[in-house]
Amino acid sequence: MKKPLIVQKFGGTSMGSIETIHIVAEHIIKAKNDGNQVVVVVSAMSGETNRLVALAQQIDSVPTARELDVLLSAGEQVSMALLAMTLNKLGFAARSLTGAQANIVTDNLHNDATIKNIDTRTIIELLEQDQIVIVAGFQGVNENGDITTLGRGGSDTSAVTLAGALKADECQIFTDVDGVYSCDPRVVPNAQKLDVVDFPSMEEMARKGAKVLHLPCVQYAWDNAVPLRVLSTFDVNEGSLIKGEQGTKPVCGIAIQRDMALITIEHEALSNLQKHCQMLGIEVWSVIEDTEWAGVVIKLDACAKLKLVFSDKIRNSEHVSLLTTVGLQAPSLVDRSFALLAEHDINIHYVSTTSQSSMLMLSPESVNSAANILHEAFITSDELLDFQPRQVSLG
Ligand code: ADP
Ligand code: ASP
Ligand code: MG
Repeated sequence: MKKPLIVQKFGGTSMGSIETIHIVAEHIIKAKNDGNQVVVVVSAMSGETNRLVALAQQIDSVPTARELDVLLSAGEQVSMALLAMTLNKLGFAARSLTGAQANIVTDNLHNDATIKNIDTRTIIELLEQDQIVIVAGFQGVNENGDITTLGRGGSDTSAVTLAGALKADECQIFTDVDGVYSCDPRVVPNAQKLDVVDFPSMEEMARKGAKVLHLPCVQYAWDNAVPLRVLSTFDVNEGSLIKGEQGTKPVCGIAIQRDMALITIEHEALSNLQKHCQMLGIEVWSVIEDTEWAGVVIKLDACAKLKLVFSDKIRNSEHVSLLTTVGLQAPSLVDRSFALLAEHDINIHYVSTTSQSSMLMLSPESVNSAANILHEAFITSDELLDFQPRQVSLG
C-alpha cells in the first residue's frame, strides 16, 4: 500500500540554530517513523534574510533585482544543508535540493515571483529511494534558469505548492506560535487560538498583515484543496486547521500591517503615480482622494524605488500602520471603532471596508494599543454576542 505523504515546512526561528535544527529533525523523524513519506521545506535561519537585504542596501538602496534573488536564495541553501547533515548524522537518508534542483519554475518577476509549475519527478525518485527530501523554500528559477524568490515569507507558498503538486495528504506549517490566533499573540496577550479558520477569513487576515501565513500560500491551498495546518515546532498540540468556505463569527480576527507609507501628491498627479506603481510592480493598498490632496498607501520598503522616478511630484510621505478587523460583522464596526479609539486619544487617519473587513490607518505608535482595545471589545468581551450571522438565500 502507498505510504501517506506529508510536507512539513519549518520557518526561520525553527531553523535558527543547531539546537533548534535538532528539534526540527525530531519532528521529521517522528513523521517518517509513523510511516509517512516526508518532504521538508525550510526557510533561512532567523535574521539571515534581513542581514542579506541590509548588505545589499549598503551597496544600493534599490539593488539589481536579479542579483538580490541570487543573494537571498543563499539563506535557504544554508538551512537545507544543515538540516540534511543533521538527519544524516542521526542515521536517516536525507537529500537537500535547491529550488532549481527541485524543478520549481516561476514567472520572471524577480523578488516577488509566482510558481508556475513544479516537475516533481526528481522528488518522487528520491522518495522512492526512501530518502527524506529537503527543499529550499522561497526560491525557484525562471524559464532562463535564473534564480527567483517569491516575496518575503514565501517559504509557506513553496511548501503548499509542493504539497499540491505531490498530492500530499497534509501540508504542515511549523512555526514559532502554536497556531493561528485571533490577533498576533505577541501584540495582544489575550488573543485566542483558533482551532479551525475558514479560508475566506484566513485569506483576508493574511492579505492584511497576519504574517503567520504568506498570502499566496492561503490562496493556493484554497484553490487546490490542500489540507493545511499551522503548528508549533516547540510545543505539542494540534495547531490550527485552515478549512471551510464560510466563517460564522461576527469578528474572526484582527490583522496588523506595519511599515506602510502614505504617499501624498496633488490630485492631478494621481493617475500618473498609479501608472508608475504598476510599471514598477509596486502594490497599491489604498487610493485616497481627500479634498486637499490625493494619496496612495504602499509598503515602506517600496518607497525608495518609487522615489527614484517620481520624487519631484511627492508632497509628503508618512510612515503609517494598518489595523484590519476581519469577520462578517467587521464592516459595520467602523463607528464603534472610532468611538473606542477616541476614548484613548487614538486618531484614525483613514478607513476603508470590504464585505468582510474594515481597515483603519493609524500612526505606528498607536497600532499596538489600538489592536488590544478593539480585540477586547470585539473578540474577548461579549460585546458582539447577540450578533446573528446573515442568512444567505440561494433562491
Ligand atoms: P516563520 O519564520 O515560522 O515563517 P513568521 O514570523 O513568518 O514565522 O510567522 C509567525 C509569526 O506571525 C508569529 O511569531 C506571530 O508573531 C505572527 N503573527 C501575526 N499574526 C498572527 C496571528 N493571527 N496568529 C499567529 N501568529 C501571528
Ligand atoms: N527567508 C525568507 C524571508 O525571511 C522566506 C521565508 O522565511 O519564508 O522572508
Ligand atoms: Mg513566515
